Amino acid sequence: MIIDTHIHLDDKRYKEDLDDVLSRAKINGVKKFIIPGADPSTLDRAVEIAHKYDNIYFAIGVHPYDLESFEKLDFEKYVRDEKCVAIGECGLDYFRLDGSVDEKEVIKKKQKDIFIAQIELAKKYKKPLIVHIRDASVDSKKILLDNKASEVGGVLHCYNADEELLSLANNSFYFGIGGVLTFKNAKKLVNILPKIPFDKLIIETDGPYLTPTPHRGERNEPAYTLLVAQKIAELLDKDLEEIKNQTTKNALELFKLS
Ligand SMILES: [Zn+2]
Ligand SMILES: [Zn+2]
Repeated sequence: MIIDTHIHLDDKRYKEDLDDVLSRAKINGVKKFIIPGADPSTLDRAVEIAHKYDNIYFAIGVHPYDLESFEKLDFEKYVRDEKCVAIGECGLDYFRLDGSVDEKEVIKKKQKDIFIAQIELAKKYKKPLIVHIRDASVDSKKILLDNKASEVGGVLHCYNADEELLSLANNSFYFGIGGVLTFKNAKKLVNILPKIPFDKLIIETDGPYLTPTPHRGERNEPAYTLLVAQKIAELLDKDLEEIKNQTTKNALELFKLS
């Protein structure tokens, strides 16, 4: 079995054919799914999907691109839901900051404050974190360590394959590997993969984005995590079954799924 630990099934691009997407996933051995919180406007759709299907779970969080929604979001209401398994996506993303140096500093500060607030919620409700990091490794690592996020642990997703973050494996953090691994220009991720402890690897699509080769340009979907698992097996010189078993065990542990 494979667990897709990061799939935006609440995205409108799955609205028309969700049942087909899920049955293709099942045929390919993908049997559990976690919808990360990213866009609060589709959060209710994520909850609805998680309640309709036994094997789908959701997380609640505010993405660093969507900071305005933090104040409005009723975390307490969603976090008590039995299908809510994590807090996130939350984190820091300095990739697309606009404006002057001073304006950028203001946005960075706001991202940090809201990230820290979500770490506090994760600790309060004893849920792991789904952490989105892009071009912000040093600051993200410092925040995770300073705020004792290791109490709950979590997954680092979208982490630019930065060696800086590897040591967080010792602080209860897992590493989400997705379609990027199959890209021709994925040198950094390919190089870092063997350095990630095997018991800290988990698989994700981040669909509908980041579709693996040979489907690039199409909508991504959970069935394609099999391609990611195959690529991990090839690069680590292990059996595909071993990759599936270990990453599933890791995901079950992190998200306390049965
Ligand atoms: Zn992300
Ligand atoms: Zn995502």
